[in-house]
Amino acid sequence: KNIVVAIDGYSSCGKSTLAKALAKKLHFIYVDSGAMYRAVTLYFLRNKVDINNPEQVAEALKNIHLNFHSRDYQTHITLNDEEVSDEIRLMPVSQNVSPVSAIREVRKEMVAQQQRMGKSKNIVMDGRDIGTAVFPHAQVKLFMTADPHVRAQRRYKELQATNSDVTLEEIFENLAHRDYSDTTRKESPLMRAEDAIILDNTNITPEEQLAFALAKVEP
Ligand code: C5P
Repeated sequence: KNIVVAIDGYSSCGKSTLAKALAKKLHFIYVDSGAMYRAVTLYFLRNKVDINNPEQVAEALKNIHLNFHSRDYQTHITLNDEEVSDEIRLMPVSQNVSPVSAIREVRKEMVAQQQRMGKSKNIVMDGRDIGTAVFPHAQVKLFMTADPHVRAQRRYKELQATNSDVTLEEIFENLAHRDYSDTTRKESPLMRAEDAIILDNTNITPEEQLAFALAKVEP
């Protein structure tokens, strides 16, 4: 039976850093579920889809085709054959993704696609509901947290590297806002699965967290 490692947690807690490192080490496929919600959000923004209009949402979902290209354990995602991996990280998407991901029909579609990806392959998937809703029977579940100021600082550095002119304050606000929406939404809110292991990486290095996680996958 194939192995699924589910990594959930708050925004910018280092989930993708850990997930990529684990996948690389284990030769598993890495799937960034957040990139899917971000790509859907980008489509909604570009096409001015009204999230309160169920017909428009259903029509949009029919026209959205997402694909991952798992080169070098980075996220390469296409939206209707267009590479959108960089654009989905920018503020307009970050500021609109939580309401879009709270839509029931959107989640239903994304979860179905995610479950297909983990059906027969060894994967590491990160997100908000992987251990609770997408793969409730995942062999290994991690739940990541970190101090919100440390998280904002890390994300700030990352975005600066891409010449983004966003401020630390804006990032802090965005993370707080998304955490609030993600934990309080009706459809599979962000929460720790009962059997998920908590990993707080405020004071540990990426190497230390990788060692910690590897020990859980290969005891
Ligand atoms: O992981 P990332 O921060 O890129 O996710 C962006 C947003 O997508 C989250 O803030 C959340 O609203 C949504 N998301 C979700 N379920 C997932 C992954 C992401 O609702 N499994």
